[in-house]
Amino acid sequence: MLVYDVQDVVKYYPGQTKAANEHITLQIQEGTIFGILGDNGAGKSTLIRQMVNLLQSTSGSIKFYGHELKNNPQLVPQLVGYMPQRYEALNNLTVDEALYFTAHLRGMTRNDARQERERLLKLWQIEDLRHKYSSRLSGGQQRIVRLAVAAAGRLPVLILDEPTNDLDPLRRKMVWDILRQLNADSGTTIIFITHDAIEAEKIVQRIAILHDGRLLVEGSLSELKQIV
Ligand code: ADP
Ligand code: ADP
Repeated sequence: MLVYDVQDVVKYYPGQTKAANEHITLQIQEGTIFGILGDNGAGKSTLIRQMVNLLQSTSGSIKFYGHELKNNPQLVPQLVGYMPQRYEALNNLTVDEALYFTAHLRGMTRNDARQERERLLKLWQIEDLRHKYSSRLSGGQQRIVRLAVAAAGRLPVLILDEPTNDLDPLRRKMVWDILRQLNADSGTTIIFITHDAIEAEKIVQRIAILHDGRLLVEGSLSELKQIV
């Protein structure tokens, strides 16, 4: 099953004469950890924002589980846990509340959502933060909490935009281990954006490399190692 079928996507921001995405075509199979790698300004976030319907493409098509995304905007919140690169603090919510409400909003019963909250607090090692307000957390703590929130409710797809920025090496490794486990146990499709080739090599199975708005290559990690 194809989760994403991106065909010939072009994105110009208003007033810009240079495209932020130029004719991007790629497919993402269900159950893959798929990396999108590129330096700053390569067009990664622009592509991802179109894939979660936060941004309209100038031209091209994005199919999500076989449906044209722009005609089926409700599919994204139903199926995707998205963590943007930059986010506001989860104001007025404690970590406990953020996890519980997100799981409940994503269709879990109150009882299941309570269990989900406990599972996530343990898994992501944030039990000590449970009563804190998100705005009171450090950058690294917030990122881990955001990851746990993205994963709440066990949606089939996770899209994470540079999720390990500002994490120390131990926390980074924890994130990679948890994501690998989630993919292996539940078949969660994970789309992982990074500017760090070494990180990409650690976690992804397939990868698309963007540069200056263009897709340079797409393939399995072993295929690409023979080229680079
Ligand atoms: P990346 O995520 O790979 O760092 P982006 O998708 O953020 O790259 O940016 C791609 C290009 O589009 C860059 O040249 C960036 O300056 C430009 N860009 C991003 N967002 C906007 C915007 N809202 N308006 C105009 N240009 C933008
Ligand atoms: P990202 O790589 O996630 O896009 P940025 O720092 O590039 O992070 O962008 C932060 C915000 O600024 C985003 O909302 C983006 O759309 C906007 N932005 C980025 N580049 C430009 C630009 N050249 N002109 C206007 N807005 C931009």
